[in-house]
Amino acid sequence: MSDTTDALTFAHTPNPHPTDPAKRAEILADPGFGVHFSDHMVTIDYDVEHGWHDAQVLPYGPLAVYPGASVLHYAQEIFEGLKGYRHADGSVWTFRPERNAARFQKSAERLALPQLPTDLFVESLRQLGTVDRDWVPDPEGEKSLYLRPFMFATEQFLGVRSAQEVKFVLIASPAGPYFADGVKPVDIWLSEDFARTSLGGTGEAKCGGNYAASLEPENEAHANGCAQVLFLDTETHTNVDELGGMNIMFVTDDNVLVTPKLTGSILHGVTRESLLTIAAEDFGLKVEERAVSLDEWRERVADGTFTEIFACGTAAVINPLAALKGRTVSIPAARNTGGEVTMGLRKALTDIQFGRVPDRRGWMV
Ligand code: PMP
Repeated sequence: MSDTTDALTFAHTPNPHPTDPAKRAEILADPGFGVHFSDHMVTIDYDVEHGWHDAQVLPYGPLAVYPGASVLHYAQEIFEGLKGYRHADGSVWTFRPERNAARFQKSAERLALPQLPTDLFVESLRQLGTVDRDWVPDPEGEKSLYLRPFMFATEQFLGVRSAQEVKFVLIASPAGPYFADGVKPVDIWLSEDFARTSLGGTGEAKCGGNYAASLEPENEAHANGCAQVLFLDTETHTNVDELGGMNIMFVTDDNVLVTPKLTGSILHGVTRESLLTIAAEDFGLKVEERAVSLDEWRERVADGTFTEIFACGTAAVINPLAALKGRTVSIPAARNTGGEVTMGLRKALTDIQFGRVPDRRGWMV
């Protein structure tokens, strides 16, 4: 079987040993996060001579790469993360996938990788979402199918230059709540000794290396009872950038939603961008993208004018934050950890994603 798009034909090799339906149902009842994988994957190859070619839907399984593949040496790799949502009528949707496609192209540019056209990115989601449709959980408990597109340098070459052979892969993993305890305020840890990126670095690219650099501080966070690590800006080390895998937002007592502005080292979160729109258009909040210093955070929690603080991203959607801890820093939780605005925005966004309200902005694909 094969399906043709304007650009490429996808050859299909069905998985000869798909997961037993009873086993799949057991997994979907309690999927955890990122530990189970659906029955298929998409791969598309690239080389300088042929461009993008050989699009395939294959059984999920190991990839063969040579030990000389340059990704294993120089980390020329990027990825994305988005979700497939099942609606009440059984249909399956993604949320603003063209924003992820655009970010993937930006990341590719920074990592000297080829850009995957948006239609091919979206078509690959459609291909996998169709063959592994039964892997999209029912929406109860806000479960979804997490989609992980990634691209890496396969060329065997140990000289340091951008690779001429690359592979794009898409895999899918059923997802329950990101934080095991569900939507509860979590403490976060300030990384005072480590940065995830640097001025002029790869902070706004979604590349594996950024996450490798965040693991040691993340371990430090966990050792101190915190769920995620917070990084400061790379220039002055006084302003808040973002968390290891989420953006951060502050709600003020006079109805302003404040979030650090995109300076080049912060990831352009699709959730962040969408919440700024929803907050301004549907909640009548003023939105401010600007620097937020640790001093402002401390003072405005103390005087009660920062009422709610939350983190946002595809995986966890929105999660209220409690205290900020660190080696030398300790800022208690903002007044309203339950978060009227936080939870209101969370509901507004998830209502769109799960099709519980009309999609006025055409965000669902
Ligand atoms: N910052 C970082 C470092 C992230 O890894 C993510 C997750 N992609 C985000 C922010 C949130 O981005 P999004 O809303 O697109 O998931």
